[in-house]
Amino acid sequence: MWNRPAPLRVEKPSLQMKSVGIIGGGIGGVAAAASLHKLGIAATVYERAAELKEVGAGLMLWPNATRVLQSLGLLEQVQFPAGANTHFLVRANCGKILMNIALGDFDVPALCVRRSDLLAALLTAVPPDRIRLGHEFTHLEQTSSKVQVHFANGSTEEHDAVIGADGIRSRVREHVLGICEPVYRGYTVWRGVVTYAGSAIREGYSSETWGRGSRFGILGMGHGWFTWYATANMPRRDPPSLQQRKEELIQRLTGWHEPIPALIESAEFIMENGAFDLPPLPQWTAGRVTLLGDAAHPCTPNLGQGGGMALEDALVFAKCVAGASSLDAALQQYDSLRRHRTRHIQQRSLMMGHIGQWQNPVVVAGRRVVTSLLPAALFEHNFRRVYSYES
Ligand SMILES: Cc1cc2nc3c(=O)[nH]c(=O)nc-3n(C[C@H](O)[C@H](O)[C@H](O)COP(=O)(O)OP(=O)(O)OC[C@H]3O[C@@H](n4cnc5c(N)ncnc54)[C@H](O)[C@@H]3O)c2cc1C
Repeated sequence: MWNRPAPLRVEKPSLQMKSVGIIGGGIGGVAAAASLHKLGIAATVYERAAELKEVGAGLMLWPNATRVLQSLGLLEQVQFPAGANTHFLVRANCGKILMNIALGDFDVPALCVRRSDLLAALLTAVPPDRIRLGHEFTHLEQTSSKVQVHFANGSTEEHDAVIGADGIRSRVREHVLGICEPVYRGYTVWRGVVTYAGSAIREGYSSETWGRGSRFGILGMGHGWFTWYATANMPRRDPPSLQQRKEELIQRLTGWHEPIPALIESAEFIMENGAFDLPPLPQWTAGRVTLLGDAAHPCTPNLGQGGGMALEDALVFAKCVAGASSLDAALQQYDSLRRHRTRHIQQRSLMMGHIGQWQNPVVVAGRRVVTSLLPAALFEHNFRRVYSYES
Protein backbone atom coordinates (compact mmCIF):
# COMPACT_ATOMS: atom_id res chain seq x y z
CA MET A 1 0.00 0.00 0.00
CA TRP A 2 1.15 3.54 -0.72
CA ASN A 3 0.73 6.39 1.73
CA ARG A 4 -2.45 8.34 1.20
CA PRO A 5 -1.57 12.01 1.19
CA ALA A 6 -2.36 13.73 4.41
CA PRO A 7 -4.64 16.73 3.89
CA LEU A 8 -2.38 19.58 2.85
CA ARG A 9 -2.82 23.23 3.54
CA VAL A 10 -3.41 25.16 0.37
CA GLU A 11 -3.88 28.69 1.67
CA LYS A 12 -1.28 31.40 1.09
CA PRO A 13 2.13 29.96 0.31
CA SER A 14 4.37 30.30 3.35
CA LEU A 15 7.44 29.44 1.28
CA GLN A 16 8.46 32.55 -0.67
CA MET A 17 8.59 30.78 -4.02
CA LYS A 18 8.52 33.44 -6.74
CA SER A 19 8.71 31.29 -9.81
CA VAL A 20 8.86 27.71 -10.99
CA GLY A 21 10.15 26.75 -14.44
CA ILE A 22 8.54 23.70 -16.02
CA ILE A 23 10.28 21.95 -18.90
CA GLY A 24 7.75 20.24 -21.17
CA GLY A 25 4.25 21.25 -22.22
CA GLY A 26 2.56 17.84 -22.20
CA ILE A 27 -0.28 16.84 -19.86
CA GLY A 28 2.04 16.76 -16.83
CA GLY A 29 3.79 20.08 -17.42
CA VAL A 30 0.63 22.03 -18.20
CA ALA A 31 -1.22 20.41 -15.26
CA ALA A 32 1.65 21.43 -12.97
CA ALA A 33 1.44 25.03 -14.20
CA ALA A 34 -2.36 25.02 -13.76
CA SER A 35 -2.06 23.62 -10.21
CA LEU A 36 0.64 26.10 -9.20
CA HIS A 37 -1.28 29.06 -10.63
CA LYS A 38 -4.38 27.96 -8.77
CA LEU A 39 -2.37 28.18 -5.55
CA GLY A 40 -0.95 31.58 -6.43
CA ILE A 41 2.53 30.48 -7.49
CA ALA A 42 3.87 31.75 -10.83
CA ALA A 43 5.00 28.98 -13.15
CA THR A 44 6.29 29.12 -16.71
CA VAL A 45 6.13 26.18 -19.13
CA TYR A 46 8.94 25.81 -21.70
CA GLU A 47 8.02 23.56 -24.63
CA ARG A 48 10.36 22.68 -27.48
CA ALA A 49 7.57 22.37 -30.07
CA ALA A 50 6.33 25.39 -31.98
CA GLU A 51 2.76 24.67 -30.88
CA LEU A 52 1.18 22.74 -28.04
CA LYS A 53 -0.61 19.70 -29.31
CA GLU A 54 -1.36 16.15 -28.29
CA VAL A 55 -1.70 13.12 -30.56
CA GLY A 56 -5.27 12.44 -31.71
CA ALA A 57 -5.89 9.28 -29.67
CA GLY A 58 -8.18 8.93 -26.68
CA LEU A 59 -6.89 8.80 -23.13
CA MET A 60 -8.57 6.94 -20.29
CA LEU A 61 -8.89 9.04 -17.16
CA TRP A 62 -9.83 6.93 -14.16
CA PRO A 63 -11.44 8.49 -11.07
CA ASN A 64 -8.08 9.24 -9.45
CA ALA A 65 -7.32 11.41 -12.50
CA THR A 66 -10.73 13.04 -12.92
CA ARG A 67 -10.59 13.91 -9.19
CA VAL A 68 -7.54 16.07 -9.97
CA LEU A 69 -9.50 17.82 -12.73
CA GLN A 70 -12.30 18.43 -10.28
CA SER A 71 -9.85 20.04 -7.81
CA LEU A 72 -8.67 22.31 -10.62
CA GLY A 73 -12.24 23.22 -11.54
CA LEU A 74 -11.86 21.64 -14.99
CA LEU A 75 -13.91 18.45 -14.74
CA GLU A 76 -17.05 19.81 -16.37
CA GLN A 77 -15.08 21.18 -19.29
CA VAL A 78 -13.40 17.81 -19.90
CA GLN A 79 -16.51 15.75 -19.19
CA PHE A 80 -18.72 17.43 -21.77
CA PRO A 81 -17.09 16.05 -24.93
CA ALA A 82 -15.91 12.77 -23.28
CA GLY A 83 -17.40 9.32 -22.78
CA ALA A 84 -18.18 7.93 -19.31
CA ASN A 85 -17.17 4.32 -18.65
CA THR A 86 -18.92 2.23 -16.01
CA HIS A 87 -17.78 -1.32 -16.79
CA PHE A 88 -14.68 -3.07 -18.10
CA LEU A 89 -15.02 -6.37 -19.96
CA VAL A 90 -12.26 -8.91 -20.45
CA ARG A 91 -13.05 -10.99 -23.54
CA ALA A 92 -11.62 -13.96 -25.41
CA ASN A 93 -10.89 -13.32 -29.07
CA CYS A 94 -13.98 -15.34 -30.06
CA GLY A 95 -15.97 -12.68 -28.19
CA LYS A 96 -16.84 -14.66 -25.04
CA ILE A 97 -16.95 -12.42 -21.98
CA LEU A 98 -14.51 -13.80 -19.43
CA MET A 99 -15.03 -11.12 -16.80
CA ASN A 100 -17.32 -8.13 -16.31
CA ILE A 101 -15.80 -5.64 -13.90
CA ALA A 102 -18.06 -2.90 -12.52
CA LEU A 103 -15.93 0.21 -12.06
CA GLY A 104 -18.00 1.19 -9.05
CA ASP A 105 -19.70 4.25 -7.72
CA PHE A 106 -17.10 6.94 -7.31
CA ASP A 107 -17.53 10.61 -6.51
CA VAL A 108 -16.18 11.38 -10.01
CA PRO A 109 -16.54 9.51 -13.34
CA ALA A 110 -14.09 7.39 -15.34
CA LEU A 111 -13.79 9.18 -18.69
CA CYS A 112 -12.23 8.52 -22.03
CA VAL A 113 -11.21 11.87 -23.51
CA ARG A 114 -9.44 13.10 -26.59
CA ARG A 115 -5.93 14.02 -25.50
CA SER A 116 -6.28 17.34 -27.31
CA ASP A 117 -9.47 18.16 -25.34
CA LEU A 118 -7.71 17.44 -22.05
CA LEU A 119 -4.72 19.60 -22.95
CA ALA A 120 -7.00 22.41 -24.13
CA ALA A 121 -8.91 22.33 -20.82
CA LEU A 122 -5.68 22.40 -18.78
CA LEU A 123 -4.42 25.34 -20.84
CA THR A 124 -7.46 27.43 -19.89
CA ALA A 125 -6.09 27.42 -16.32
CA VAL A 126 -2.67 28.83 -17.30
CA PRO A 127 -2.09 32.47 -18.31
CA PRO A 128 -1.10 32.39 -22.02
CA ASP A 129 2.04 34.46 -21.40
CA ARG A 130 3.29 31.64 -19.12
CA ILE A 131 3.66 29.21 -22.03
CA ARG A 132 6.89 29.64 -23.99
CA LEU A 133 6.96 27.66 -27.21
CA GLY A 134 10.07 26.91 -29.26
CA HIS A 135 12.14 26.55 -26.08
CA GLU A 136 14.11 23.33 -26.20
CA PHE A 137 15.85 22.71 -22.89
CA THR A 138 19.56 21.94 -23.22
CA HIS A 139 21.08 22.20 -19.73
CA LEU A 140 20.86 23.97 -16.38
CA GLU A 141 23.06 25.33 -13.62
CA GLN A 142 22.14 25.54 -9.95
CA THR A 143 23.29 27.89 -7.22
CA SER A 144 22.14 27.73 -3.59
CA SER A 145 19.13 29.93 -4.37
CA LYS A 146 18.42 29.78 -8.12
CA VAL A 147 18.35 27.55 -11.20
CA GLN A 148 19.49 28.94 -14.53
CA VAL A 149 17.91 27.13 -17.45
CA HIS A 150 19.43 27.21 -20.94
CA PHE A 151 17.62 26.63 -24.21
CA ALA A 152 18.68 25.67 -27.73
CA ASN A 153 17.39 29.02 -29.06
CA GLY A 154 20.13 30.75 -27.04
CA SER A 155 17.91 32.13 -24.28
CA THR A 156 18.45 31.63 -20.54
CA GLU A 157 15.83 31.92 -17.78
CA GLU A 158 16.14 31.91 -14.00
CA HIS A 159 13.75 30.24 -11.52
CA ASP A 160 13.60 29.30 -7.83
CA ALA A 161 12.90 25.69 -8.77
CA VAL A 162 12.58 23.63 -11.95
CA ILE A 163 10.37 20.66 -12.82
CA GLY A 164 11.42 18.28 -15.59
CA ALA A 165 8.12 17.26 -17.21
CA ASP A 166 9.74 16.46 -20.52
CA GLY A 167 8.52 12.92 -20.98
CA ILE A 168 9.95 9.42 -21.08
CA ARG A 169 13.19 10.50 -22.81
CA SER A 170 13.66 13.40 -20.39
CA ARG A 171 16.68 15.60 -21.02
CA VAL A 172 16.28 17.12 -17.54
CA ARG A 173 16.48 13.63 -16.01
CA GLU A 174 19.55 12.85 -18.07
CA HIS A 175 21.15 16.13 -17.04
CA VAL A 176 20.55 15.93 -13.28
CA LEU A 177 20.55 12.15 -12.68
CA GLY A 178 22.58 10.73 -15.55
CA ILE A 179 21.37 8.80 -18.57
CA CYS A 180 18.45 6.44 -17.96
CA GLU A 181 17.48 4.77 -21.27
CA PRO A 182 13.85 3.56 -21.45
CA VAL A 183 13.46 -0.22 -21.59
CA TYR A 184 11.55 -1.85 -24.46
CA ARG A 185 9.14 -4.45 -23.04
CA GLY A 186 8.83 -6.65 -26.11
CA TYR A 187 5.57 -5.52 -27.69
CA THR A 188 4.16 -2.81 -29.91
CA VAL A 189 0.99 -0.79 -29.38
CA TRP A 190 -1.20 0.57 -32.18
CA ARG A 191 -3.95 3.13 -31.61
CA GLY A 192 -6.83 4.43 -33.71
CA VAL A 193 -9.85 6.70 -33.33
CA VAL A 194 -13.10 5.86 -35.15
CA THR A 195 -16.84 6.41 -35.16
CA TYR A 196 -18.99 3.30 -34.79
CA ALA A 197 -22.78 3.05 -34.80
CA GLY A 198 -23.28 -0.74 -34.62
CA SER A 199 -24.66 -2.76 -31.72
CA ALA A 200 -21.53 -4.78 -30.83
CA ILE A 201 -20.40 -2.25 -28.19
CA ARG A 202 -22.57 -1.50 -25.16
CA GLU A 203 -22.60 2.10 -24.01
CA GLY A 204 -20.40 2.66 -20.98
CA TYR A 205 -18.57 -0.66 -21.44
CA SER A 206 -14.90 -0.55 -22.31
CA SER A 207 -13.21 -3.84 -23.08
CA GLU A 208 -9.95 -5.65 -23.62
CA THR A 209 -9.86 -8.81 -25.73
CA TRP A 210 -7.08 -11.32 -25.13
CA GLY A 211 -5.49 -13.55 -27.75
CA ARG A 212 -2.07 -15.22 -28.01
CA GLY A 213 0.57 -12.51 -27.65
CA SER A 214 -1.96 -9.89 -28.74
CA ARG A 215 -4.71 -7.76 -27.23
CA PHE A 216 -7.34 -5.37 -28.53
CA GLY A 217 -8.95 -2.69 -26.38
CA ILE A 218 -12.02 -0.53 -27.07
CA LEU A 219 -12.78 2.64 -25.10
CA GLY A 220 -15.88 4.80 -25.63
CA MET A 221 -15.17 8.53 -26.05
CA GLY A 222 -18.85 9.52 -26.22
CA HIS A 223 -21.03 10.81 -29.08
CA GLY A 224 -20.39 7.66 -31.17
CA TRP A 225 -16.59 7.98 -31.06
CA PHE A 226 -14.24 5.21 -29.92
CA THR A 227 -10.54 4.89 -29.41
CA TRP A 228 -9.02 1.45 -29.81
CA TYR A 229 -5.62 -0.06 -29.19
CA ALA A 230 -3.99 -3.30 -30.25
CA THR A 231 -0.79 -4.94 -29.04
CA ALA A 232 1.50 -7.65 -30.40
CA ASN A 233 4.78 -9.20 -29.30
CA MET A 234 7.61 -8.27 -31.64
CA PRO A 235 11.18 -6.95 -31.65
CA ARG A 236 11.61 -3.19 -31.45
CA ARG A 237 11.21 -1.59 -34.89
CA ASP A 238 10.64 1.65 -36.79
CA PRO A 239 6.92 1.90 -37.67
CA PRO A 240 6.09 0.92 -41.27
CA SER A 241 3.82 3.06 -43.48
CA LEU A 242 0.23 3.72 -42.46
CA GLN A 243 -1.17 1.37 -45.08
CA GLN A 244 1.23 -1.40 -44.03
CA ARG A 245 0.24 -0.92 -40.37
CA LYS A 246 -3.41 -1.39 -41.22
CA GLU A 247 -2.80 -4.43 -43.43
CA GLU A 248 -0.58 -6.02 -40.81
CA LEU A 249 -3.14 -5.49 -38.06
CA ILE A 250 -6.02 -6.86 -40.13
CA GLN A 251 -3.95 -9.93 -40.87
CA ARG A 252 -2.80 -10.41 -37.26
CA LEU A 253 -6.32 -10.14 -35.87
CA THR A 254 -8.18 -12.15 -38.51
CA GLY A 255 -11.09 -14.03 -36.94
CA TRP A 256 -11.28 -11.82 -33.84
CA HIS A 257 -14.80 -10.94 -32.74
CA GLU A 258 -16.92 -8.05 -34.03
CA PRO A 259 -16.47 -5.12 -34.24
CA ILE A 260 -12.65 -5.44 -34.13
CA PRO A 261 -12.07 -5.88 -37.91
CA ALA A 262 -14.47 -3.01 -38.68
CA LEU A 263 -12.76 -0.69 -36.17
CA ILE A 264 -9.34 -1.33 -37.70
CA GLU A 265 -10.65 -0.98 -41.24
CA SER A 266 -12.34 2.36 -40.58
CA ALA A 267 -9.38 4.04 -38.82
CA GLU A 268 -8.06 6.90 -40.93
CA PHE A 269 -4.86 7.08 -38.94
CA ILE A 270 -3.12 4.38 -36.92
CA MET A 271 -0.38 5.32 -34.47
CA GLU A 272 2.35 2.85 -33.58
CA ASN A 273 4.56 2.98 -30.48
CA GLY A 274 6.74 0.43 -28.73
CA ALA A 275 5.85 -0.34 -25.08
CA PHE A 276 8.60 1.28 -23.00
CA ASP A 277 9.09 2.10 -19.35
CA LEU A 278 11.88 2.44 -16.80
CA PRO A 279 12.42 0.60 -13.53
CA PRO A 280 11.59 2.96 -10.61
CA LEU A 281 14.33 5.59 -10.27
CA PRO A 282 16.37 5.82 -7.05
CA GLN A 283 15.72 9.57 -6.85
CA TRP A 284 13.74 12.28 -8.65
CA THR A 285 15.22 15.36 -7.06
CA ALA A 286 18.66 17.00 -7.26
CA GLY A 287 18.95 20.33 -5.45
CA ARG A 288 16.20 22.63 -6.74
CA VAL A 289 15.23 20.39 -9.66
CA THR A 290 12.71 17.56 -9.61
CA LEU A 291 10.83 15.39 -12.10
CA LEU A 292 7.16 14.82 -12.84
CA GLY A 293 5.03 12.56 -15.06
CA ASP A 294 6.74 10.27 -17.56
CA ALA A 295 10.09 11.91 -16.87
CA ALA A 296 9.91 10.59 -13.28
CA HIS A 297 8.08 7.27 -13.66
CA PRO A 298 7.30 6.19 -17.22
CA CYS A 299 5.12 3.11 -17.28
CA THR A 300 3.76 0.76 -19.89
CA PRO A 301 0.21 1.68 -20.93
CA ASN A 302 -1.48 -1.42 -19.49
CA LEU A 303 -3.37 0.30 -16.67
CA GLY A 304 -4.04 3.52 -18.60
CA GLN A 305 -2.52 5.44 -15.71
CA GLY A 306 0.52 7.33 -17.06
CA GLY A 307 -1.44 10.51 -17.71
CA GLY A 308 -3.37 10.07 -14.45
CA MET A 309 -0.10 9.79 -12.51
CA ALA A 310 1.15 12.98 -14.20
CA LEU A 311 -2.03 14.80 -13.11
CA GLU A 312 -1.69 13.49 -9.55
CA ASP A 313 2.00 14.53 -9.42
CA ALA A 314 1.08 18.02 -10.59
CA LEU A 315 -1.50 18.67 -7.90
CA VAL A 316 0.54 17.07 -5.12
CA PHE A 317 3.63 19.07 -6.11
CA ALA A 318 1.70 22.34 -6.02
CA LYS A 319 0.18 21.51 -2.63
CA CYS A 320 3.60 20.58 -1.22
CA VAL A 321 5.10 23.88 -2.38
CA ALA A 322 2.12 25.82 -1.08
CA GLY A 323 2.23 24.19 2.33
CA ALA A 324 5.97 23.97 3.05
CA SER A 325 8.31 26.33 4.88
CA SER A 326 11.30 25.56 2.65
CA LEU A 327 11.88 24.23 -0.86
CA ASP A 328 13.81 21.27 0.55
CA ALA A 329 10.85 20.32 2.74
CA ALA A 330 8.44 20.72 -0.20
CA LEU A 331 10.52 18.52 -2.49
CA GLN A 332 10.99 15.89 0.20
CA GLN A 333 7.27 15.80 0.88
CA TYR A 334 6.50 15.54 -2.85
CA ASP A 335 8.95 12.67 -3.15
CA SER A 336 7.58 10.78 -0.16
CA LEU A 337 3.95 11.21 -1.23
CA ARG A 338 4.50 10.18 -4.84
CA ARG A 339 7.32 7.67 -5.07
CA HIS A 340 5.57 4.71 -3.45
CA ARG A 341 2.36 5.11 -5.39
CA THR A 342 3.97 5.59 -8.79
CA ARG A 343 6.32 2.65 -8.17
CA HIS A 344 3.30 0.46 -7.45
CA ILE A 345 1.56 1.57 -10.67
CA GLN A 346 4.72 1.08 -12.75
CA GLN A 347 5.21 -2.43 -11.41
CA ARG A 348 1.56 -3.43 -11.71
CA SER A 349 1.34 -2.11 -15.22
CA LEU A 350 4.44 -4.05 -16.21
CA MET A 351 2.99 -7.23 -14.70
CA MET A 352 -0.38 -6.75 -16.45
CA GLY A 353 1.54 -6.34 -19.71
CA HIS A 354 3.44 -9.60 -19.15
CA ILE A 355 0.23 -11.51 -18.44
CA GLY A 356 -1.67 -9.88 -21.31
CA GLN A 357 1.12 -10.69 -23.77
CA TRP A 358 1.47 -14.38 -22.88
CA GLN A 359 1.81 -16.34 -26.11
CA ASN A 360 2.26 -20.02 -25.21
CA PRO A 361 -1.03 -21.76 -26.20
CA VAL A 362 -1.22 -23.86 -23.03
CA VAL A 363 -0.57 -20.87 -20.78
CA VAL A 364 -3.09 -18.78 -22.74
CA ALA A 365 -5.75 -21.50 -22.41
CA GLY A 366 -5.04 -21.63 -18.65
CA ARG A 367 -5.34 -17.83 -18.40
CA ARG A 368 -8.70 -17.97 -20.13
CA VAL A 369 -10.07 -20.60 -17.72
CA VAL A 370 -8.73 -18.85 -14.62
CA THR A 371 -10.04 -15.44 -15.75
CA SER A 372 -13.53 -16.78 -16.33
CA LEU A 373 -13.55 -18.46 -12.89
CA LEU A 374 -12.09 -15.65 -10.79
CA PRO A 375 -14.65 -13.43 -9.07
CA ALA A 376 -14.85 -9.97 -10.67
CA ALA A 377 -15.07 -8.59 -7.13
CA LEU A 378 -11.37 -9.35 -6.68
CA PHE A 379 -10.48 -7.03 -9.57
CA GLU A 380 -13.03 -4.45 -8.49
CA HIS A 381 -11.33 -4.33 -5.10
CA ASN A 382 -7.90 -3.81 -6.73
CA PHE A 383 -9.25 -1.15 -9.07
CA ARG A 384 -10.85 0.62 -6.14
CA ARG A 385 -7.48 0.80 -4.36
CA VAL A 386 -5.96 2.55 -7.35
CA TYR A 387 -8.89 4.84 -8.17
CA SER A 388 -9.78 6.04 -4.70
CA TYR A 389 -6.49 7.96 -4.34
CA GLU A 390 -6.93 11.62 -3.55
CA SER A 391 -4.10 13.89 -4.60
C1 LIG B 1 -0.01 3.63 -26.30
C2 LIG B 1 -0.20 4.47 -25.06
C3 LIG B 1 -1.45 4.55 -24.45
C4 LIG B 1 -1.63 5.30 -23.28
N1 LIG B 1 -2.89 5.36 -22.71
C5 LIG B 1 -3.04 6.07 -21.57
C6 LIG B 1 -4.35 6.17 -20.97
O1 LIG B 1 -5.35 5.64 -21.47
N2 LIG B 1 -4.47 6.88 -19.81
C7 LIG B 1 -3.39 7.51 -19.23
O2 LIG B 1 -3.56 8.15 -18.18
N3 LIG B 1 -2.16 7.43 -19.80
C8 LIG B 1 -1.96 6.74 -20.94
N4 LIG B 1 -0.72 6.70 -21.52
C9 LIG B 1 0.40 7.39 -20.86
C10 LIG B 1 0.39 8.90 -21.14
O3 LIG B 1 0.34 9.13 -22.53
C11 LIG B 1 1.65 9.53 -20.57
O4 LIG B 1 1.89 9.03 -19.28
C12 LIG B 1 1.50 11.03 -20.50
O5 LIG B 1 1.33 11.57 -21.80
C13 LIG B 1 2.74 11.65 -19.84
O6 LIG B 1 2.63 13.05 -19.87
P1 LIG B 1 3.93 13.93 -19.62
O7 LIG B 1 3.47 15.34 -19.68
O8 LIG B 1 4.66 13.45 -18.42
O9 LIG B 1 4.90 13.62 -20.87
P2 LIG B 1 4.67 13.88 -22.40
O10 LIG B 1 3.25 13.77 -22.78
O11 LIG B 1 5.65 13.01 -23.13
O12 LIG B 1 5.08 15.41 -22.62
C14 LIG B 1 6.42 15.82 -22.58
C15 LIG B 1 6.53 17.17 -23.28
O13 LIG B 1 7.86 17.65 -23.12
C16 LIG B 1 8.32 18.18 -24.35
N5 LIG B 1 9.79 18.09 -24.36
C17 LIG B 1 10.55 16.98 -24.45
N6 LIG B 1 11.85 17.29 -24.41
C18 LIG B 1 11.91 18.65 -24.27
C19 LIG B 1 13.00 19.56 -24.16
N7 LIG B 1 14.28 19.16 -24.20
N8 LIG B 1 12.70 20.88 -24.01
C20 LIG B 1 11.42 21.31 -23.96
N9 LIG B 1 10.35 20.49 -24.08
C21 LIG B 1 10.61 19.15 -24.23
C22 LIG B 1 7.65 17.30 -25.40
O14 LIG B 1 7.60 17.94 -26.67
C23 LIG B 1 6.26 17.10 -24.78
O15 LIG B 1 5.37 18.12 -25.15
C24 LIG B 1 -0.53 5.97 -22.70
C25 LIG B 1 0.72 5.90 -23.31
C26 LIG B 1 0.89 5.17 -24.49
C27 LIG B 1 2.27 5.12 -25.13
